[in-house]
Amino acid sequence: MRQQHLKLDSKKINNIISTFEKHYAEKSINRKSSDILDTLIATKLSQNTTDKTSSIAFGNLKREFKNWDELIGAPIGKIKNLIKVCGLAYSKSKDLKAMVKQIKNEKGKVNLDYLKKLSDEEVYKELTKFKGIGVKTASCVLVFSLGREVFPVDTHIHRVLNRLGIVKTKSAEETFESAKRLIPGNKKYFLHRAIIMFGRNICRANNPFCGSCFLYKNCSYENKNKGSIKSTNTENNFLILDGI
Ligand code: SF4
Repeated sequence: MRQQHLKLDSKKINNIISTFEKHYAEKSINRKSSDILDTLIATKLSQNTTDKTSSIAFGNLKREFKNWDELIGAPIGKIKNLIKVCGLAYSKSKDLKAMVKQIKNEKGKVNLDYLKKLSDEEVYKELTKFKGIGVKTASCVLVFSLGREVFPVDTHIHRVLNRLGIVKTKSAEETFESAKRLIPGNKKYFLHRAIIMFGRNICRANNPFCGSCFLYKNCSYENKNKGSIKSTNTENNFLILDGI
């Protein structure tokens, strides 16, 4: 019975993945590698805020500091002012400064390139030892700057996978654990990016555009509404981690 369920699940997932591939093929989704510490800092700034504001904060830091070493000597107030647009500026400033200092103390230089040689599990262990860095942020670093096949789960992905009936979970953390097993390894990066775009443009948290949804037939969401049609000016494909 369990075997049969797994077969059905994987059929449904494969179906959904090929539908995403048809619709997002042209936008996809070339993997760019970026500096590991840049990605970690950008992702840290993006916690609990929008991509737009965290991108502004990241740009402010990059313009002000020639390299990340300079964060160590910078007053918290200065860092806080530079990133205030993205919220939680005081705690983010403290965490960033402490993190850079810790890297310098432990490794002798402010650089995370040594992570390239480590396994996924070892990278998780290294990154989550920093205050304010959890599994989600570490997953973004793994996928966006180390090119690993992991599947970070944010609020869009948690919502969409539940509505589609791929998972039945109460939190993004639970979704992350289930998705790890369900999504085929070589599709994780593509699907992560595709679902974020889909969650922003079609399957929005409030008033999803079910009438314009190419996954309508696959969707198990009890409140789906075929009458809700997408207008032409709602496209927003900005992803912060594209910009670093
Ligand atoms: S039908 Fe509606 S709720 Fe279901 S996936 Fe599409 S947009 Fe989301």
